[in-house]
Amino acid sequence: MLALVTGASRGIGRAAALELAKNNFNIAVNFNRSPDSAKSVCEEIKALGVKAEIFQADAGDYSQVEEMFKAVKSSMGESVSVLVNNAGITRDNLLMRMKPEEWYEVINANLNSVYNCTHAAIRDMAKAKYGRIINIASVVGLTGNAGQANYAASKAGIIGFTKSIAREYASRGITVNAVAPGFIETSMTEVLKPEIKADILKSIPEGRIGSPEEVAKAVLFFAGESSSYITGQVLAVDGGMTMF
Ligand code: NAP
Repeated sequence: MLALVTGASRGIGRAAALELAKNNFNIAVNFNRSPDSAKSVCEEIKALGVKAEIFQADAGDYSQVEEMFKAVKSSMGESVSVLVNNAGITRDNLLMRMKPEEWYEVINANLNSVYNCTHAAIRDMAKAKYGRIINIASVVGLTGNAGQANYAASKAGIIGFTKSIAREYASRGITVNAVAPGFIETSMTEVLKPEIKADILKSIPEGRIGSPEEVAKAVLFFAGESSSYITGQVLAVDGGMTMF
């Protein structure tokens, strides 16, 4: 069975791709700007004994995504059964200072990408009467966060999208769920100032930053048979940071 992970060249996407590979999924490794990292993730995956190939595409670009899905099918010889919409960026700023490009870039990379990839994947999943779509949201899509209106809006959008597509495709054997990570140790968070990190840590009952591998375990759960009767859900992986 083939899984496509967007933004698999590092961080949570890389960990999700490796976790799925350890559990016998073949992996299409999508990346945008980091070919060397994507190649090395691909080698790590192949060493686990499954098939893997890299596919460059800006997930926020509709036609690049369409071409990528065609290339994946012809090159890997099967269609995508598990889609992990993970690609994401931040362009943090308070609203007063937020430039239009900071708003549009984030909505495009984080939210339009989810539409693009899901739209490209869904026809084959529906034909197969089977599919697993896992969208990487964020706890800030549930709570909001000062300085991240663009990012929080994109993640809240992902949650609404997840629930809608879950309803549309539940009768076709396709589940659609979201994983909402809290504060995870990746290149996205390493740029935060130490005082901001310290403040965030105070709000986490477990008192520590999470690892990409801990998020990947939740992705694996939604990718497999163990979650067959679960759809339209949002699972926070955040050390207790948000409780609803
Ligand atoms: P990261 O280390 O910065 O990695 C981001 C990944 O996304 C990279 O592989 C990058 O690939 C890829 N990417 C970015 N824009 C892309 C595009 N337009 N098309 C294709 N790939 C693209 O970030 P991360 O922390 O692992 O984040 C992964 C996901 O988790 C994101 O959606 C993020 O919002 C979410 N998340 C992270 C945290 C956290 O604390 N780290 C918390 C909540 C949610 P290239 O370099 O090849 O472009």
